[in-house]
Formats: sequence, structure tokens, C-alpha cells
Amino acid sequence: MVWVKKAWNFIRDLLGFRINSHYIKNYINDANIKSSIYMSFIVVVLEIWMIFRQLFEYVIPGWKENVGVKMSAFEFLFKYYSYYTLFIVTGIAVFLFAVFYFRNKHYKKSEFIINLVTGSICISWFFIVFLEKLKGQTAIYVSSTYILYALMPILGVSIIANAIYKKLRNQNHSTFAMAVIISFAAICLTFGVKFGYIDFISTSRPKMIICFLTMILFVACLLIWKPYISIIILTSIFVLFAVMLKNVENTEASKRVFLDGDLINYITFLISLTMVTISIYQQRITEAKKDEKLIHDAIFDPLVEANNLQYAVDRINSKFESGMNYYYGRICLFINIANFKMINNQRGFAEGNKFLKDLVHFIKLSFPDDLIARQSDDHFVVFTSQNGFMDRINTLNEHVKDLADGLFVLLKVGGYKPHGKEEPYIAVDKARYACSRIKNKSDVIFNEYDEQMDEKLEKSHYIVNHLDEAIEKGWVKAYYQPVVWSNDKELCGAEALARWIDPVYGFLSPADFIPLLEETRLIHKLDKAIIEYVCREMRRAIDENRTVVPVSINFSRLDFELMDVIEVLETSVSKYNIDKNYIHVEITESALSDNTLLLSNTVSKLRENGYSIWLDDFGSGYSSLNILKDFKFDVIKIDMKFLSNFESNEKTKDILDCIITLAERLGMNTLTEGVETEDESNYLREIGCGRLQGYLFGKPLRLSEFEDRIYNKELIVSKNIL
Ligand code: C2E
Ligand code: MG
Ligand code: MG
Repeated sequence: MVWVKKAWNFIRDLLGFRINSHYIKNYINDANIKSSIYMSFIVVVLEIWMIFRQLFEYVIPGWKENVGVKMSAFEFLFKYYSYYTLFIVTGIAVFLFAVFYFRNKHYKKSEFIINLVTGSICISWFFIVFLEKLKGQTAIYVSSTYILYALMPILGVSIIANAIYKKLRNQNHSTFAMAVIISFAAICLTFGVKFGYIDFISTSRPKMIICFLTMILFVACLLIWKPYISIIILTSIFVLFAVMLKNVENTEASKRVFLDGDLINYITFLISLTMVTISIYQQRITEAKKDEKLIHDAIFDPLVEANNLQYAVDRINSKFESGMNYYYGRICLFINIANFKMINNQRGFAEGNKFLKDLVHFIKLSFPDDLIARQSDDHFVVFTSQNGFMDRINTLNEHVKDLADGLFVLLKVGGYKPHGKEEPYIAVDKARYACSRIKNKSDVIFNEYDEQMDEKLEKSHYIVNHLDEAIEKGWVKAYYQPVVWSNDKELCGAEALARWIDPVYGFLSPADFIPLLEETRLIHKLDKAIIEYVCREMRRAIDENRTVVPVSINFSRLDFELMDVIEVLETSVSKYNIDKNYIHVEITESALSDNTLLLSNTVSKLRENGYSIWLDDFGSGYSSLNILKDFKFDVIKIDMKFLSNFESNEKTKDILDCIITLAERLGMNTLTEGVETEDESNYLREIGCGRLQGYLFGKPLRLSEFEDRIYNKELIVSKNIL
């Protein structure tokens, strides 16, 4: 019975029995109101034309005859030409209403007043004409006219009600809007039925049937509802009309309706009309669905099944636009998963994605009915009530612990209570900033933004906004820290370390800007500038016959994503004609733990191109040994954390010893960072660590100071620097 089901589905969709989404309903509603702009415009133009046509032929002669004799000009106009005034008033009122309807933002006073006036005219029209026109009419005439006229105050009240609602809430009320166009359509329809009928019963050759057909077509185009509703309405009107015609006393005319084949014509017309309504409806549904999908794709993140931040921002802004103080009693939470990268590293990307999806599920569970959005990666934003929000964070934390399943990933939440009409992005930024402050505190899960953070946040905005300027104006420089051979302490190289000497903030160290630039994915700009700086300075030193030592340059993990590292390096190196042996590439362990194909290819290519590859901060991350298995390095830089408890912890020495033996076995050289004491230096020499770097041999210095130390023989340049 598959085909029966298919046929049913087809008919169900064709006739519009399927329940539409809120978006599609609104779309169709709006389309109906848009149609009423054109339709009401046509009505106004048509009526003006009719008035001009009739003016000289009937109105003026009739007026002369009647005015002053039997009635006033006013009475005359409203008695005999009330339909013209009715349609002009309705047409103009609906036209203005529909035009203003789409001007959602900043509902102006003038629009409010115009809607109020046109609505009031519709209501007044009813009272004037009703009283005037109905004097001395027959009962039947009164009842049909009554329906037509009674629609006028409904129209007027709907227009005024919507105007007041829009003024208060800054948005339209869909029910009032529907009432406006339905009463407009009903006026047109009643008019068509009435005139078609009157003409039919009073003339031997009725022509006004055209008026009926025109009006019904007009309404079919004006009101596109679900096809089955349109079919019910249109068919009822047709049946009503046919019954009315059949029952007229003029039997000649009545017979004609059903005998002359007119009925077949009527039915054919009705069928065509229903086809028109189905076709217009289907067309609109298709357009609406396409639009809905586009919007959905723009705001929805299918990977984790959550809306993006833009969605949340739009929602908040629209609440404000509608006059609601959205921030009242709410807090903006920025949710981050510290060490999330580890899940990707250890369990693969598929598991990482699944973790995020589950996380979204638990955020929704912990914050039911709250506005939730994904900002990026493992960062989420929630706007929740200030009441008991900490309990909800704790609930989420329990879920995250379960999800982590033994891995060292932690929930970190930053909070900010926005006020006034603060930009949602600013609120999120402040919550994010509060969250970033507890990144390295393993025992804290929540931190609330306080006004003292303003200064720091301002500083970080300053850094991001002035990076280009700082590079261009030379505020960003490389400082050089000596690297020495462990056996004779002679200088064998230097590490280039970025410094930002700012006209406003003064001296900025990497801790101020490196993590920030990585977070904002701008780090490659800085690293490119440092490469250029180092090569340029080196060329100048060579040209001026000053001593030159190899320099190691730091690369961020993101550089490999954000720029073509090989091309950038090659460009600077060849521009300043530098020997590649004098440039070492430092990549941190955490960068390599991503182990993407792109990164490993680039590293291999760099080696092929003649650069030494140095592994920075070895032992600080989680996958140190794996990295040694997968990559070949010229030098391993052992992280300075190993020396932090050199004296107190006996194990430190053993560990250092083992690392160096391991590196030797793998055919790699070693360097230990952060050497501050003679004891450390001696021990490292004893266990065979080749190179040393640390405050014991010198802090990072400006090039001129670094060269002064060589000149003063505080640093002896080794003969064996390559
Ligand atoms: P790193 O590459 O591990 O650099 C060594 C850091 O340890 C430097 O800090 C250096 O000043 C510091 N240091 C050296 N010897 C000692 C010592 O004996 N005791 C102590 N306590 N510290 C010592 P700095 O210059 O603040 O740099 C911090 C980090 O910023 C660097 O760590 C590196 O990862 C990053 N960085 C610096 N410059 C750049 C750059 O141009 N590009 C990129 N991507 N990262 C950079
Ligand atoms: Mg380094
Ligand atoms: Mg290091």
C-alpha cells in the first residue's frame, strides 16, 4: 500500500494539511499583507477612475437636481455614491497600514497618527453612512448592506489596535494584521456578491456578474491561506451566490443560470480559481522553505546541534526592540572547556565532536529554557537567570566530569551581569574575559567579571586593534636571549623573543599579547613581523661586519594554519640573503601534538629546505614521547618547569638525566631552558645536555645590548656556532 500512502502524502501537501513552522506561517502572513499593498492600490486607482467616469454623466446632473430640493450635497454623496467613498477610504487605510506594517524598526509618531486617523475614518464612515443610507430601506437590502458596512468598523478597530500595539511593543500583532486584511477581503467579496446579485435581479442582461468574478479573483489573490481553507471559502461563496440567483423571483433569469451552460462556466471558473490558489500557495511555501533553510543554516551549527552566537544576539536585540529589558535579572555565562584539545589529541576528532555534541546536550539540560549559543570551538554562551545560576553551573560541571571519563578536562565559566542596553557582544566579551582569567586555576570553575577587569580588557582590545600599527611603526621588536654550550659556556646562538614597546602601555611582554593574539587568530601577523625583523637585523649586522650568531624563532601552532610558513620564511631569508643555518625554527610541543597532516608536511619540508627544527617546551604537554616517535628534531628544548624544584626534588635530576639519554639515543641534541644557578648549569653539563639557556647567561636583550655584551667579552662567541 505504498502508493496509497504516497498519494495521500501528495494530496495532503497539495491541499496544505501539513502543519507549518512558525517561520512559514509568518512568511505567508507577510506575503498576504504585501499583496494587500498592491490590491488596495488598485482599488484606490479604480475608484478614482470610476468617480471621474461618473462625475459628469450622473453625479453633477443628479446633484443639481437633488441638492437644495430634496437633500444636502453631503446626504446625496453618501446616499448614492457611498460605495465610492467606502472603497476609497478602505483602499487608502489598508494601503497605508500595509506599507507601515513592514517598517518594523523605529515606529514613528507620524505612522502611528496616520494609522489612528485612517482607522478612525473607517469607523466614522460606518456611523455616517449607516445612519444616512439605511433610512427607509427594505429589510433584505438592509441586511446585505449591513454586513458590508459593519465590516468597516472592524477594519478601523483592527488598524487602530495594531497601531497601539506597535507603539507599545514596537512590533506588529499578527492577529490584528490578519483582521485588517480579512475585513478588507470581506468588504471586497461582499461588494462583489451584492452587486452581481442586484444587477442580476434588476436587469434583463446582467453584466455585473463580472464584478462578482473580479472580486472573488481579487480575494483569491489577496488571501492565500492553506488551499483547503481557500477552497472552502471560495466554494461557499459560489454556492451562496448560486443559491441566491436560483431563488430570485425573476424566473427567466433564474433559469438562465442553470440552463444556458452558465453553471458549467461558473464551475470551470471555480475550479481554475482553486488551482490558482493551490499554485500560489505552493509557490510561497517553496520560497518560504528555501528562506527558512538559508536562515537556519546561517544561525545553526549542525556539528553540535546548537545555534550560533549571531542567533542569540539577534534574539536579544529583538527583545530590546520590542521594549523588553532583556538583561533584567539575567547573567551572561561564557562556558569553556579547559584542555579540550586533549580529547582531540588522545581520542581523535570524531570523539572530540561527539564530546561537544554531548556537552551541548548537557548545557541544554542544565539550563532549560535559557538562551544558549555556541561561540566557537568549545566555547558556549548562556543567558540565564541570576537566581541560582551557580547551582546550574555545578550541575553542568558534574556532567562534564562524567563526559571527560578520566581525561583532565575542566569546566570553566565566566559570568557577567549586563545592564542598560549594552551590546550583547560586549556582554559576551566580558564574560569571556572573566573566564580566561581562571584558565590555569584548576580548582576554580566560575569567575565573575568585575569593573577592575575593565582596564585589562581595555588593554587586550587595544592590543588587538593596534597590532598592525605596532608592526608598522616598529613597536614590536625581537629581543635576544643568549644560548650557550654547556661545556665552555660560550655563546652558540640566541632565541628571538617578541617584545612590544608601546607608546601608551609601555613595555609589554609576550604573556600580555601572545595568548591573546592566538585567541584572536592574529598571531601569524606578529610572527611574520618577527621573522622579517630578525632577518633584517642580521643582514645589517653582516653588512656592518658585526658578530652574528644563529637565531631561533618561535612559531605558533596557528601559524601553520594561518599562513604559508615556508613561503614567509623563504621570502625573508632570500630578501636579506641569510644563510639558512642561521635560522632555527622553534615549534612548541603542544603545536605538534595536533599532528595534522599539514603541520607534519610543513615541518618535513622545512627540514628539507635546510632549517633546523627545534622542539620547544619539551615535557610541558601531554604527548611528549609520542612526538619524539613521530618527528625528527635537531634540538629538543627541555621545558624550564623541570628546573623549578631542582634543589628540593631529587626526582628532577633523574628525569632530566633520562630525557637527555633518550634524546641521545634518538640522535637529537638537547637544550635546557630556564637555567638560573651554577648548580643547575653544572649538573646539566655533567649529564650531557649540550646547550643551556637562562638568566644565568643572560636575559632577553635588545640587539644593541646583546652585541655590547659580546663586545665587552661578557659573552664569548664560540668558534663552533654551526
Ligand atoms: P619560550 O619560547 O619557551 O621562551 C622562553 C621564555 O622563558 C621567555 O619568556 C624567556 O624570557 C623566559 N626565560 C628564559 N630564561 C629564563 C630563566 O632563567 N628564568 C625564567 N623565569 N624565565 C626565563 P618570554 O620572552 O616572556 O616568552 C614567553 C613565551 O612567549 C615564549 O616561551 C614563547 O612561547 C612565546 N613567544 C615569545 N616570543 C614569541 C614570538 O615571537 N612568537 C611566538 N609565536 N611566540 C613567542
Ligand atoms: Mg621558544
Ligand atoms: Mg620554551
